[in-house]
Amino acid sequence: MAEALSPAEVVTKYEQYKLHDSGVRGRGMATANHVTALTHECEAYAIYNRLVPANARKSLEPRLAMVFSEGRDQERIVKRDLMDAGFDVYEQQSQMVWPEFQIVGHQDFSIRQPGFGGVHVDVKSCAPFTFDSIDSVEDLLNHKWSFVRHWYSQLVLYMVLQNCETYWLMLKNKSTGKLKVIELRLNDDAYREAERMIAKAKRVNEAVAKGQEPELAQKITDPSVCSECEFFNVCLPDMGFKGKAVMLSAEEIGELESMLERRAELESAASEYDSVDKEIKETIKEVAGTESDVVLVGEWIASIKRTPVRPEAKPRSRYTKTVISFVKSEAPTK
Ligand code: SF4
Repeated sequence: MAEALSPAEVVTKYEQYKLHDSGVRGRGMATANHVTALTHECEAYAIYNRLVPANARKSLEPRLAMVFSEGRDQERIVKRDLMDAGFDVYEQQSQMVWPEFQIVGHQDFSIRQPGFGGVHVDVKSCAPFTFDSIDSVEDLLNHKWSFVRHWYSQLVLYMVLQNCETYWLMLKNKSTGKLKVIELRLNDDAYREAERMIAKAKRVNEAVAKGQEPELAQKITDPSVCSECEFFNVCLPDMGFKGKAVMLSAEEIGELESMLERRAELESAASEYDSVDKEIKETIKEVAGTESDVVLVGEWIASIKRTPVRPEAKPRSRYTKTVISFVKSEAPTK
């Protein structure tokens, strides 16, 4: 009798496939400036993207690889659903090229129906709380997360590359399946942002032509950005050692270093927990509405407690917000 299929084997193979789908393809040395690299807040990032081979980059975390792969799957689903709904979906994954500035990009697709002109579309699938936080171009520009602000920069450069006045950012709520469209227009602000990125592309091209590593001024050197960067080990940014660093002695370090190692091991599980926890609670809130206080999910019982919060009686006085992030350096720190 044939050996039974093991659940663990299926899950492992599925994860390996997803990892390959996202983590290996598209991470080689770029021969041109990808629009998405130009939207990154660090100019050095765009230069390294052209200079550093794949095997010298920090490998993509499996958790992120799954997220990217999921995003691509969602885009395919949206396209298929729009076609099934009777729209003509065309120019799928067509390439945009601007040889003068060595800029390349890929549009997701264009959409039209008989009797109407078409429009270019870029799909982003979002967690419910991200989906709910965006209803306008201003929401994109002022968003607290940089990856959302990058979407604006990406699409305005697409508009210039494709010589069009309008672009649709199509957002899909991954939890409820809802769709919304934010229409971007090529106005003066959009032009300015596109010009900023074209100027960046020119500087990147000059550095690449000379085979020149990024200069210090081109590095953002921000722990919250650098800790996620695939070029960290090549770039070795001078993290916070600007005369304000405190160097701990071996005695002061004590357990702290091994706790940081343990923290790093737990980090991906913790962020997965946070994201799943938020998504579940948003969904529970949505299905419960304003009246129900219990939602039964199979064997799970979600209890909802609503507590009125009084408005602040007086304005909050000024205080200093402290954010601490960690990144492991391969450069000597002691
Ligand atoms: S490690 Fe930081 S400074 Fe260096 S390229 Fe990446 S984001 Fe820029």
